[in-house]
Amino acid sequence: MDKLAIVVPCYNEEEVLKIASKALRDVLDDLIQKGKISKDSFILFVNDGSKDRTWELIEEEHEAYPDKVCGVKLAGNVGHQFALTAGLMTAKDMSDVTVSIDADLQDDVNVIEEMIDKFHSGCDIVYGVRRERKTDTFFKRTSAQMFYKLMSLMGVKTIYNHADFRLMSRRAVEEFSKYKETNLFLRGMMPLIGYQTDSVYYDRKERVAGESKYPLKKMLALAFNGISSFSVKPISLILGLGLFIIFASAVALVYALVSYCTGHVVPGWTSLILSIWFLGGLQLLAIGMVGQYIGKIYMEVKQRPRYNIEKILSSGEIFTKGEIFTKGEK
Ligand code: UDP
Ligand code: MG
Repeated sequence: MDKLAIVVPCYNEEEVLKIASKALRDVLDDLIQKGKISKDSFILFVNDGSKDRTWELIEEEHEAYPDKVCGVKLAGNVGHQFALTAGLMTAKDMSDVTVSIDADLQDDVNVIEEMIDKFHSGCDIVYGVRRERKTDTFFKRTSAQMFYKLMSLMGVKTIYNHADFRLMSRRAVEEFSKYKETNLFLRGMMPLIGYQTDSVYYDRKERVAGESKYPLKKMLALAFNGISSFSVKPISLILGLGLFIIFASAVALVYALVSYCTGHVVPGWTSLILSIWFLGGLQLLAIGMVGQYIGKIYMEVKQRPRYNIEKILSSGEIFTKGEIFTKGEK
């Protein structure tokens, strides 16, 4: 039977912690009773340097339910993406499958069962996808939609309307741990892992209590980080613009010469305007070229895994999940 770890990053969540713990314990009990996960499955709260009583509450929950509720205390606030990664890395060696979810219960805990079912039918990553954004403000909804559009324009593969509510098998988390980059944008990294994936759909609710820990500033930073960590397209755009302006300078040349010949110009204008167009284009082109190399260096220094082998078939043996089986065993 598979051991489930539910990973919950928490930053100043004292109002919701007990409610979240209860709701998630109920989900665990239900799944254990249905025989879908093992009895020693657990919740892992990650305290992301909270300034309120969050950690004390996690300790209390752990004391009351020592084998159901576990906790990780980070030494300071590192942000949602890092806190979640810390949780996944801790849970990876203690469980067979993880589900990450926010502490505010905006994501529907009832679809965790469906996620587990999909895991049992062979999926390694199951994305929780919001069906509608009725409860979000108009601003949050449109800005989020623009963000997903921009991401796909920039060539970054993300799952539309999926945040960080997802199931990951142990081997998916293990593969993820090979991504050593410090600029984390988990939603963009998961599709790089490969394996069979699927989605479950749910309606996003309001926060049960407390306030959003993602003000506009943090949201914009996440969006910028998402694009700049995955795409060097902005550099190519500069290169393209440089080429375009060089081309435009040819048109300007014709226009300036015609104006010169018809005699409607002050002395010096023709040479000046041509230099401005041509040199401007040349400079952009040069910056774009240098940028192409910087973009390549950027991708190299990330040292991302170049591939992820799922299975090897070879003389009577099957290599899978890092283990070797003899044919017929698996
Ligand atoms: N969070 C965190 N560290 C931070 C900010 C947020 O661990 O620096 C956690 C927070 O406790 C919550 C999750 O990340 O569990 C998502 O935050 P929130 O619900 O405030 O974001 P929103 O749903 O408004 O986008
Ligand atoms: Mg939230």
